[in-house]
Parts: sequence; structure tokens; C-alpha cells
Amino acid sequence: MSKLIPALFILVFLGACNQPRQGTVIAHALPHLDTSVKAPKNVILMIGDGMGLTQITAALYSNNNKLFLEEFFIIGLQKTYASDNLITDSAASASAMACGVKTYNGAIGVNRDTMPVQTILEEARSNDLATGVITTSTIVHATPACFLAHQPERKMYEEIAEDIARSGADLLIGGGKKYFDQRTIDDLNLYEQLVDKNYQVSDYFQSDFKTMEYTTSKKLAYFTSNYDPIPFAQGRDYLIPAVQMAPEFLEARSNKGFFLMIEGAQIDWGGHANDLDYLVQETLEFDRAIGEILKYAKENGETLVIVTGDHETGGLSINLGSRMNELKASFTTEYHTGALIPVYAFGPGAELFGGIYENTDIHKKIRQAFQFENQSSKVMGAVGGR
Ligand code: MG
Ligand code: ZN
Repeated sequence: MSKLIPALFILVFLGACNQPRQGTVIAHALPHLDTSVKAPKNVILMIGDGMGLTQITAALYSNNNKLFLEEFFIIGLQKTYASDNLITDSAASASAMACGVKTYNGAIGVNRDTMPVQTILEEARSNDLATGVITTSTIVHATPACFLAHQPERKMYEEIAEDIARSGADLLIGGGKKYFDQRTIDDLNLYEQLVDKNYQVSDYFQSDFKTMEYTTSKKLAYFTSNYDPIPFAQGRDYLIPAVQMAPEFLEARSNKGFFLMIEGAQIDWGGHANDLDYLVQETLEFDRAIGEILKYAKENGETLVIVTGDHETGGLSINLGSRMNELKASFTTEYHTGALIPVYAFGPGAELFGGIYENTDIHKKIRQAFQFENQSSKVMGAVGGR
């Protein structure tokens, strides 16, 4: 006991003196760990839409039993249910991860009373971090929208585009150009507005993403299609070059760190179509993106990488008669299912992501890793949580 008290004082002292985000993550939220962990400077959240454990398994066993995901050692499970339905949609689940609130299916960055809730991206930006979103769907689609916009209904794409154009995010890569410059609800040209807001704006009509020149002195918005980007199997090829350039681009935009959300959106669309090959190709491309991000994170050493899904899609099963690289699969639904979804974490703060928890806790854990929480209450929590 006499040794414990000075240790607590040292903890309080360290907590009080550290600048935000530069000290240690206090261990009170980690009941199974005694040690405190270093805070990350950067967080990269990767969401495979519709990527449950069976989708991951199907990709693994369609790829000679190898995935980059196998490099993660800290794995948890998240509960995905929405406030109004045990089976979530991508809007409620992304709002949960982005904003930390259980909300209704269709909600974009709002709580169950349709009130806007600050997203982790917005909070990172208000802490002077650089921010970015990359998706293989339109940028106004539910998953990316929940990090950038606040609207009561996911189909309000043009309203969401307006929110995105004002979001201030440093990097925006995805489809859906038409919601910005060929609008039906008004005559706004959000493409031009982005240019006026110090973005370099380009699109696949003008230049190929891989060969496009850009400068880190401007923000960057790149539209990969007018509407939905095509599937990977039909030639979509921007995700890998996008995840290769994004971390260094964001590093150059702020010396305080960055928050980046990367979505593999069409794993879900393969599930809805009950098309095994579609979902496997999309999952394997997403896994290669994970490999690129892990390579960056290992070299950088200050980056927390979190990979998860938002829900399972299709009720996929891998059945008797399957062999390696020759799967016999079936589906139980053309919609989502309620299965727990794995969460993989790597880098400083990864320890926070072990265990079984609510999807809203992903928001809390990212805030805790970033040390966005009030320092003094955290220290009180550490001392009071004996
Ligand atoms: Mg999505
Ligand atoms: Zn879906």
C-alpha cells in the first residue's frame, strides 16, 4: 500500500503535466492490463462495409490461405445493433462509430432524435489534426457521410454533399460527383465551391488518380465517378494508390497528426447480390489496402490502425464440399444480419480494442487513444477506478 500511493501521485502528476495527446493512455479502461500505453499521433479507421467473419474467411480461403489481416494480434468483437432495429444498416452503424451514439437505421451523424452529433473526424479537425475520407462508393453514401455530414435520412445525397463541401476535410476521395455539380434540389455548384475553399478538385474525367499531380499546400478532393464507382473486377483501381498517398499527404497537412477513414464499400454490395465472387474480390482488394496501411504504420510507429466492418451482409456460410480456393457458399438473406463483427487493431493504443463491446465504444476508444477526453476526469477515473 505504501508503494501504491506514491505511484498514484506520479500518475496524477504525469496526467496533469502532459500536454493533451502526448502522454500516456491511462489504463483504467483496460481492466485486464496494468500497463499504460503510448498515445498515437494518427488514427486510421478502415471499415469493410458488410465485412463479417465469413466474408473474411471466404477471402482468406480464396487467396491461398493468406491475408494481411493475419498480421493483427489484437482482435475484438463489436455489437452492431441499431437503436430501432437489431439488424443495423450502414448509416446507424457508421454513426455509432463516428459519433458514439446508438441511433436509427438511416441516420447520418445524428442521434435518435435527429440532433447532429459531433463526429470523430470533426473533433480531430477541431484539435488541428488533418482529416481524410476515402471510399469505393460515392462520398455521399452512408458510411463516409456519417463522418462528414449530419442529415436525418441517408438518401438525402445532395444535402449530404453540401455538408461534405463545408466539412473542411483535407482529403476526399470517392464517387458521386453529380451530387456536387449536377444537382436537382438547387443550382449550387459545390465542385466550384470546393475550388474556392482551397481544394484542388479533380475527377476521373480529367485525370487518372494514379498519375494525377497534386500539392500538399492545398486540400484535395477527387471524384472517382459521377455516380457509384464500378466494382474492382470491372477495373476500379484507385483504392490502392489512394491509401498509398493519403497518410503522407495528411502528415504534410498538419504536424499534430491525422484521422483517416478508409472504406471498402462494395463488399456489402456483393453480399446484397448474394455474389460470392464479387464480395471476395472486394474483400481481397480491401485486404491489400490494409497491407499498404500496415506497411505505413510499421514504419511510422505513431499510427493506430483499426480495421472492422459495420455489419455482416448476406448471412454468408461456407459449406461442406468447399476446398481451398474452391468454396461452396450459400446465403440466407439479401440484407444484413446481426452477427458480431471483428475489430482488428495495430499500433499505439491497439490494446484498447480487445474484448467484446458496443459499436459506439469504437468512437470512445478512438477518443481515448487520441486523448481527446478531459485530462483531469481521466486521471480521476484512473484513481477512482480502484
Ligand atoms: Mg458503406
Ligand atoms: Zn448493405
